[in-house]
Amino acid sequence: MIENLHQQTGDVQRLVQSEPSRTDAFENTLRPQRLADYIGQQQLKRNLSVSLEAAKAREEPMEHLLLYGPPGLGKTTLSHIIASEMGANIKITSGPAIDKPGDLASLLTNLQPGDVLFIDEIHRLKTAVEEVLYSAMEDFVLDIVIGKGPGARSMRINLPPFTLVGATTKVNMLSSPLRDRFGHVYRLEFYSDDEMSHIVHRSSQILGLGVEETAALEIASRARKTPRIANRLLRRVRDYAHIGGVSSISLELAQHALGELGIDVLGLDPSDRMILSTMIEKFGGRPIGLSTLASATSEEEGTIEDVYEPYLLQIGFIERTPRGRIPTDRAYTHLGFTPPSGSQGSLLSA
Ligand code: ADP
Repeated sequence: MIENLHQQTGDVQRLVQSEPSRTDAFENTLRPQRLADYIGQQQLKRNLSVSLEAAKAREEPMEHLLLYGPPGLGKTTLSHIIASEMGANIKITSGPAIDKPGDLASLLTNLQPGDVLFIDEIHRLKTAVEEVLYSAMEDFVLDIVIGKGPGARSMRINLPPFTLVGATTKVNMLSSPLRDRFGHVYRLEFYSDDEMSHIVHRSSQILGLGVEETAALEIASRARKTPRIANRLLRRVRDYAHIGGVSSISLELAQHALGELGIDVLGLDPSDRMILSTMIEKFGGRPIGLSTLASATSEEEGTIEDVYEPYLLQIGFIERTPRGRIPTDRAYTHLGFTPPSGSQGSLLSA
C-alpha cells in the first residue's frame, strides 16, 4: 500500500535535499575562502579570475555578476570568494527579504565603496524594488520618490560604487531589464565524481577526519553531484565513525552508514524511491500527470516539481512526455522491477 511519503520517510528535511536545511549552519566552516580552493567549475573560475584581476588593476569594483544553477552548487560561496579576493566586505540578503524600495535603499546607502551586495533568490524581488535597483546598478544612483500624491517629490542619492552578485535557481524567471544589467552571467554546473570526491577530502580535512580514497568516492557518488549534499552526508558518516571509535572513514564504514541512512548508490533516498515505485506499482508505468502523482504520494505539486523531479530527470529515471511523466527502464531496474520492455539494461554503466 502506498502511504503518505512523510509517514514513510519520517522527517520532511531530507539528507539529500539540495536546499539548505536547519542543520547546515556548519557550512560556513567548510566554505573555501579563495578562488584557488574552490573546486571544479573550471571555465567559470578562469573567467572570474580574469575579471577579478582586471578590476583590481583598475582599482574599481567588479562588474555586477549573476550566478545561476541548482541549489547547493556554490553560488553563495563564490560571492564570499569575490568579496575576499577584492578585499571587500559582503552584505548578504535575499529577494524575498527586501520587502519595499525603502529596504533596498537602506541596504544600498549603507554600503562602503567596493562592497559586494549578494542577493540570493534574486528572481523573487518585487517589481517596485527591482525598478529601484536598475539605476543603482547602472549609474550608482538611487532615484526615489518621497511622499505621496501632489506633494510627492523625487530625490536622487549617489551611492558608493559596489558589485551586485545575484544568485538564482530560476534564471528564466528574471526579467530581461534586470538580467541585462549584469556584466557577467555564469551558470554553475553539476560536479563530476572526481571533483565531488576532492570536496569530500577537503571537508574531512577541515573536520579533522581521515577518509580513505574509496570512501571519499563512495560518499561523493551518492551526493547527487552537489557539494552541499556531500558535506551533509560526510557529517552523518562522521557520526558513525565517532560512535565506532575510529578517526578515519573506511569504505566499509561509509557504505554501512549511508545504507543505514537510506541513501542508495545513486543518491536516492526513501522519498525518491517511493515516488518511483508509486509510478511503477500503482500506475503500471503509464504516463501520469503532476496532480495525480502529487495526490498519490500526498505531496505538494510544487515539491514534486522542484525538489524530487530535477534529479530523477537528470539521472534519466523519469521522462516527461506530452501525456505525463513516465518511469524509464533504468528506474524499473534500479528498484528491482522488470521493465515493461523486458530488457534489464545495465543501470550503473550509463
Ligand atoms: P548555493 O549558494 O549554490 O546554494 P553554497 O555556496 O551555499 O551553495 O554551497 C553549499 C556548500 O557546499 C558550502 O558549504 C560549500 O562549503 C560547499 N561548496 C560549494 N561549492 C564548492 C566548491 N566548488 N568547492 C568546495 N566546496 C564547495
